[in-house]
Amino acid sequence: MLILFAFCILFSSCTQMVSAPQTEYVFGTVCTLNFFDDGTESLYEECFLELRGIDDKFSVNKEYSEISLVNKNAGLKKVSVSREVFEVLELSKMIAEKTDMAFNPVLGSLIKLWAIGTERQRVPEIEEIESARQHCNPDSLVLQNDDGIFYAELTDSKTQIDLGAIVKGYAADRIVKILEKRNVKKAVIDLGGNIYVFGQKDRQNNKWKVGIKNPLNQDSEPVKIVSLDYGSVVTSGNYERFFVENGIRYHHIIDGKTGSPAESNLASVSVIYKESVFCDALATAFFVAGVDADFERKLGLQDVQLVFVKKDGSVVER
Ligand code: AMP
Ligand code: MG
Repeated sequence: MLILFAFCILFSSCTQMVSAPQTEYVFGTVCTLNFFDDGTESLYEECFLELRGIDDKFSVNKEYSEISLVNKNAGLKKVSVSREVFEVLELSKMIAEKTDMAFNPVLGSLIKLWAIGTERQRVPEIEEIESARQHCNPDSLVLQNDDGIFYAELTDSKTQIDLGAIVKGYAADRIVKILEKRNVKKAVIDLGGNIYVFGQKDRQNNKWKVGIKNPLNQDSEPVKIVSLDYGSVVTSGNYERFFVENGIRYHHIIDGKTGSPAESNLASVSVIYKESVFCDALATAFFVAGVDADFERKLGLQDVQLVFVKKDGSVVER
């Protein structure tokens, strides 16, 4: 009995001990969570479980993810999905509409064709691009909420969902919800470079500082240090995943209008806002559409900060 009691005390004090920041490979990238003084083993475990759970539902690289099941049943039948998947699909359709499809959640057929970042990457034939481009209409994604039972259906057999441009942002916001519930005082969430800084940095109320990489030379100094009280900084860039053929850089952000990697004059776009899901989707959208787009206004979002780095190295902020 005494031994059991001692074991319980020992065990409970162990689980409360503060651990170092933890890193895991999720979403095909390196994810690091730092919860500082609140970083118990159990909190890290809870949050990584959440991240892995989101990846299991949303990834197109997992055969049995909900998104893969919707994709497999394209043109066949509706598929029942979780509330989370339903909500992200709904939000994605709305963002697609407001960004004139610069952000498009159903570019899967083109993304698979180019396969950038995989062993199958290649420059497809024009005919292949043209044919895949015909199957990227978000209207083909039909969502239905049947009294709390959620369904998603692709009505075109060749249309495929890919949420790679929004899921990490969504995941960061989900972690923030857990941290709020657990009264965590401060945290830094880094999901493959998608950053969320949470809580008060220090007693002096100094702002958090997040560096924006120089897309033209990532080993050099950041192009800018963003100061913020809390919120997310997400960057989309042509340096993240790409291959070069005949001197042309083919990167992973596709313009559905051309069916090929986006050809704005940008090397990267960073979006700073309190909700990471919007940062993520908008960084991709602005990368496709360029500096002059006003998507934040079309979405009715206040206090969005934007940092564009052009291919010539010049920086435009607004
Ligand atoms: P990000 O790095 O957030 O800009 O997302 C890029 C990833 O999203 C790609 O690897 C594709 O999986 C997918 N994607 C590429 N282009 C688009 C686009 N225009 N709209 C939505 N998703 C895209
Ligand atoms: Mg994105």
